[in-house]
Amino acid sequence: MRLLLATISHETNTFSPVPTPLARFCRDGTTLLSGQAAIDFYRGTGTCLGGYLAIAEGAGAEVVVPVAASAAPSGKVEGGAYETFCRAVTDAVAAGGFDGIMLDLHGAMVTDRFDDGEGELLRRIRAIDATTPISVAYDMHANVFDDMIRTATVVTGYHTYPHIDMAETARRAGAALLRAINGEIKPVSAWAAAPMLPHVMAQGTHQFPNKELQAMCAGWEASGRALAASLFVGFPHADIPMAGLSAVVVTDNDKADAQRMVNELLGFAWNARQDFTFKIEPLQGSVARAKRLGDAGPGPVVLLDHYDNCASGGTMDTTEVLAEILRQGLEDVVFFGIYDPAAVQQAIAAGIGAQLDMTIGAKLAMPLLPVASKPLNVSGRVRTISAGYFTARGGLAPGLRVFMGPTVVLDTGPVQIVLLSRHIEPTAADMLRTLGIEPGEKRFIAIKSRVHWRADLGRFAREIVECAGVGVCTSDYGQLQFHHVRRPIFPLDPAMAWNGPAN
Ligand SMILES: [Zn+2]
Repeated sequence: MRLLLATISHETNTFSPVPTPLARFCRDGTTLLSGQAAIDFYRGTGTCLGGYLAIAEGAGAEVVVPVAASAAPSGKVEGGAYETFCRAVTDAVAAGGFDGIMLDLHGAMVTDRFDDGEGELLRRIRAIDATTPISVAYDMHANVFDDMIRTATVVTGYHTYPHIDMAETARRAGAALLRAINGEIKPVSAWAAAPMLPHVMAQGTHQFPNKELQAMCAGWEASGRALAASLFVGFPHADIPMAGLSAVVVTDNDKADAQRMVNELLGFAWNARQDFTFKIEPLQGSVARAKRLGDAGPGPVVLLDHYDNCASGGTMDTTEVLAEILRQGLEDVVFFGIYDPAAVQQAIAAGIGAQLDMTIGAKLAMPLLPVASKPLNVSGRVRTISAGYFTARGGLAPGLRVFMGPTVVLDTGPVQIVLLSRHIEPTAADMLRTLGIEPGEKRFIAIKSRVHWRADLGRFAREIVECAGVGVCTSDYGQLQFHHVRRPIFPLDPAMAWNGPAN
């Protein structure tokens, strides 16, 4: 058996000013991973490609990986980049000789030409090869368009947020695809969307209602009623027609039952729509509350600067939460982090131990937001300089070698500020330990993250305080001008009614 495996993964925040050129998809900034190098990099990791490789190699298949392109979330993908990695896949498909195609796609990729980057890729594959079975593993944040489902044989989605089941999701997709190739099953799919944009801060699977929705999916899979059942919460920071919540269910040749399960998922989600919203606490009050909690006992209080999460397209350089922490005098804080490559270079040039007065952050304008961040003046000593390499032992993708880029810790006394050269969401304790900081020993851990930090850093949190700063991942939908998303949609149109999908 010969299988084509590929990763093309990007979550696009159409409000983000962070550019998305080809280099962002390259591990070292210059070369896209492919072939044996991609196989060696991902084999055994907790990623989708790691899961696909386990299934394919376990079946004794010959594996071809034309491209493994994955980038941190940011603005629309540049056309040249998109064409480069799509062509890698379509050229391989055109060369032929595959029994199956296993794709690891995010599902919320927007390019400067296409609202559904994944749907366009699948259309191109099907224009070359109309019949070879295709499986797709999508992120739970996929914004689903019809072509993303119609063209595929099997579609699966994550059941966890934070996404700790990426490899498992791909194994489920790959295993079903192998059964389809062998003629053991005949997968059929049903899908539909609900008119709702769940807030990301209310999407975690540690809480109602997504916990219950994902349990429904997993239960149907475990019982065998569904080959794959997926509830996609969607990615709301994308001004495209199909942003938002949807469900996809694959059964063994029972379309009507697949549709029943889709309807049940969407009905449950719609009825719980108020629980998919998020209540915003003003920044001054939340930082003051964090300070009181910090004084109340041992163990870290986690402050989430969640409007500027780089893993949702944030610039990772807004300063408002850090400024408020400094202003209110919180002590024994690690702040991870501010993306500012020029400040990193300035600190490296000064060297370990140097005392510096610096202006950090707010270097990337956010023209699609009505509010702006301000540069922040800080004084501190250069405590750590790191090349930025580490291998994640916990968190989202155990075993994955991660490159943060050159990284510096500037110590102001009360606050240790991490200055970064690449956009990387603080999710794993190893990110801090590689900088000489033990997270469990800090009084406050302030991070630019929303939900994924729970995967590993979550175990250190005695208390959690959500801080509304400034950023393109804002939970205040009033700051976002939507022009293209389908209307009406909840909560942009809060009083709207909906009677379920038209089947
Ligand atoms: Zn996601």
